[in-house]
Amino acid sequence: MAKKTIADIDPQGKIVLMRVDFNVPQDDAGKITDDRRIRMALPSIESVISRGGRLVLMSHLGRPKGTGVEPKFTLSAVATRLGELLQKTVAFAADTVGEDAESKIKALGDGDVVVLENLRFNAGEKAGDAEFAKILAGWADVYCNDAFGTCHRADASMVAVPQAMGDKPKVVGHLVAKEIQYLSDTIAKPQRPFIAILGGAKVSDKINVINNLLGICDHVLIGGAMAYTFSLATGGKVGKSLVEEDRVALAAELIAQGGEKLLLPVDTHCGDDFSSDCRKQVVQAGEVPDGWEGLDIGPETAQKYAQLLKNAKTVVWNGPMGVFEMPPFDEGTKTVAKAIADSDATSIIGGGDSAAAIDQLGFADRVTHISTGGGASLSMLEGNKFQAVELLDDL
Ligand code: AMP
Repeated sequence: MAKKTIADIDPQGKIVLMRVDFNVPQDDAGKITDDRRIRMALPSIESVISRGGRLVLMSHLGRPKGTGVEPKFTLSAVATRLGELLQKTVAFAADTVGEDAESKIKALGDGDVVVLENLRFNAGEKAGDAEFAKILAGWADVYCNDAFGTCHRADASMVAVPQAMGDKPKVVGHLVAKEIQYLSDTIAKPQRPFIAILGGAKVSDKINVINNLLGICDHVLIGGAMAYTFSLATGGKVGKSLVEEDRVALAAELIAQGGEKLLLPVDTHCGDDFSSDCRKQVVQAGEVPDGWEGLDIGPETAQKYAQLLKNAKTVVWNGPMGVFEMPPFDEGTKTVAKAIADSDATSIIGGGDSAAAIDQLGFADRVTHISTGGGASLSMLEGNKFQAVELLDDL
């Protein structure tokens, strides 16, 4: 699936319309509390402006109603922050496809940047509206998709806009190119042994990932609360652990399908309350007493998983092994994260909580790739192709 990237295009004097993911967290006063998403987009942004391109950035922020400007979701603070990071003036258009956007785009000189107002202030964005898309595409000479977190969606800026570009160049940005390289290409031709570790709260969120990875991996290791739904499927006792009763039959199917490839925890670290200072004990898997709940994989499981990871050549990790936000139930996640960091494997960390865990534990710079997408990275691990990427130019 090799796609043309922004580096393959000469942007000099051209208007480059780039879809980025500036959906940053903000506090109640509208202050950006984490600008990582803006910083992640800098390589593609700098690649355009350093070569004399005229850059138009578009993004969504939050979930406005789609009926016009809602001050809470304006991208104006994002434009200011981007200006600080680039150390240059960044223009901001008070609308997305209106007069202000048009005049600010026309005023761009070579190497200049404008951020358009939140795409989702327009109903056409979520509706994938062709008329809305036509206006945006009509202004641009080149389209670039660098918004991995939205790649699994068919919003107008992701699909209808590149479609409306016709024969004009349509490329991926550096961020999206890297995500595809690891979450799709590396996984399709993995170096073996290839081990996946899947945890987190719910089996239902990860069924399709487990299914897909059972077909490609040498081992799939299960942790997190979803292990207790598997435990129920083998007749285990789970006390008051978090389970999905309606997924037990499905868990049984996965166990049958996975055979020896699918590894379940052998012991469980449980507590009598969902808190750090609860009473604690380690029990055999499937033997959680009444009134107790599993909050982490036990030490024997953690060692067993770490041992397997030692020899892995490719690792995919998605979902913590326990309630890692609440010590000491972070121990299983820590042991697994350290084993991944210590191994020579190409290590790919799914977005969301696993990315937060690897960061919090200080191993972020010892893994190969940390995905920036939550839903998008899960969808890619399910083996799905994204229309938003498929329709871009091939190399
Ligand atoms: P997910 O978003 O599905 O990856 O789930 C991540 C969440 O699962 C984290 O907030 C963890 O605290 C939670 N989690 C992991 N293991 C357990 C467990 N044994 N009991 C309750 N929650 C858990």
